[in-house]
Amino acid sequence: MKFGGTSLANAPRMKNAARIILRYSPKNKIVVVASAVGETTDQLIQIAELAKKGNLQQARKLLSKIQASHLKIARMVAGRGETRELVSRLDQLNSELEQTVEGIAHLRELTSRSRDYLLSFGERLSTPILAATMSAMGLRSRALTGAEAGITTDDNFGEAKPLTEISYHQVHQRLDPLWGRRIIPVVTGFIAATVDGSITTLGRGGSDYTATLLAAALGADEIWIWTDVDGLMTADPRIVKNAIPLPYISFGEALELSYFGAKMMHPRALQPAGQKKIPVRIKNSSRPARSGTLVSASESSNGGKVVKAVSIIRDVGIVTVSGSGMMGAPGVAAKVFQTLGSNNVNVMMISQGSSEATISSVVANREVDRAVRALQLALMGQGYVDRIVAEKDACIIAVVGSGMKGTPGVAARIFTAVAKRKLNVRMVAQGSSEYNVSFVVSHKDGPEAVRAIHEEFNLGR
Ligand code: ADP
Ligand code: ASP
Ligand code: MG
Repeated sequence: MKFGGTSLANAPRMKNAARIILRYSPKNKIVVVASAVGETTDQLIQIAELAKKGNLQQARKLLSKIQASHLKIARMVAGRGETRELVSRLDQLNSELEQTVEGIAHLRELTSRSRDYLLSFGERLSTPILAATMSAMGLRSRALTGAEAGITTDDNFGEAKPLTEISYHQVHQRLDPLWGRRIIPVVTGFIAATVDGSITTLGRGGSDYTATLLAAALGADEIWIWTDVDGLMTADPRIVKNAIPLPYISFGEALELSYFGAKMMHPRALQPAGQKKIPVRIKNSSRPARSGTLVSASESSNGGKVVKAVSIIRDVGIVTVSGSGMMGAPGVAAKVFQTLGSNNVNVMMISQGSSEATISSVVANREVDRAVRALQLALMGQGYVDRIVAEKDACIIAVVGSGMKGTPGVAARIFTAVAKRKLNVRMVAQGSSEYNVSFVVSHKDGPEAVRAIHEEFNLGR
């Protein structure tokens, strides 16, 4: 069971989470994965940026807010005998956190490694609090970091990749004995460590990934993701008022959605579950009786609907490489993607225009400048490429549903719906699975495009 930030945001939510665990614990062996409390990770990112600029005063102010809110929750949830121990554990973490921020501020340097270390405090603070809340309800629990639970990653700080073979082996070794003693492990989501023990993070939203990794390692029967909505919905409910939860969705579809939905679930979280065919339930921690969404290996019927959901990934840019000499020159595309790959630029979408000899790649906004510089160095002045241009502030709209496969006319409906609202489509791609048609519009047009698709395919009914 994984609990997201909102499901742990304050003392009542924390107790609610513990009650859910209590309710299912007698009949099940449970591993709990906890995110950081509420918006803590966002706040730590702000602190990191302030410290990097040397603005220690502002950073400290925000820091004391985080410290106070955690201590407040801790005092309200821990049992009589355990408050002192919990508070002293939090105090210790808090002073380590302060030292880290001071270090960054003194050096005015924030590496991806020190950033991960700083962000790790969110989950390292939340797990002991949840474990203590459970103890106060009579459950035996133990707070562990991702590394202590056995998850080891490579050293790609900020977006580290789990080394599954060794992690799976270690997870067994570390967690099995706890169960043997009827102790429920409460593991930090999001964070792990390299082989030599440096703390890494799995990327934003990484707690989902922690949960699926642990489940795959242990051969769990199910993964339950407790969040603040009734499941995976037809669209982001903040954008589309009449979005509804999807009762069933296949791994293939959910993968496309989470990759493009960005915020709803970590893009790689479904991989371990899909590989081991472990069903994932996404449920609302405020309304646990509702069935939520079941993600499973079976291709679910769509009730006759071709499109199931539409999602948006924001803050992306388009990098376009063009040149008349590119036409008929083999290997240019390979060079483009090799260059982007070796500079750690993640390409989310590709299109190639044949008439004008262009290759466009969609990458995250923050990677656009790096991509352009790398491509300029690698490609300019060799007679093929004359221009490399970048446009920022775009977003990808992904339309997903297995019913689209082999159904003619879906693309036409999509683009007619968008055109009717006078939104300009800048780039189009279809995933090879045919579960997904994606296109790029400018940032400001994104929500309207989502609503256009939602309405065209009647997803709210
Ligand atoms: P958690 O803290 O539980 O991990 P997140 O904030 O990461 O929760 O993700 C849940 C939020 O994702 C929801 O509150 C909702 O606003 C947003 N969201 C975006 N797209 C969707 C979607 N298709 N279905 C459900 N929620 C979505
Ligand atoms: N706390 C991390 C984040 O906000 C991980 C997670 O919540 O899944 O990204
Ligand atoms: Mg999340």
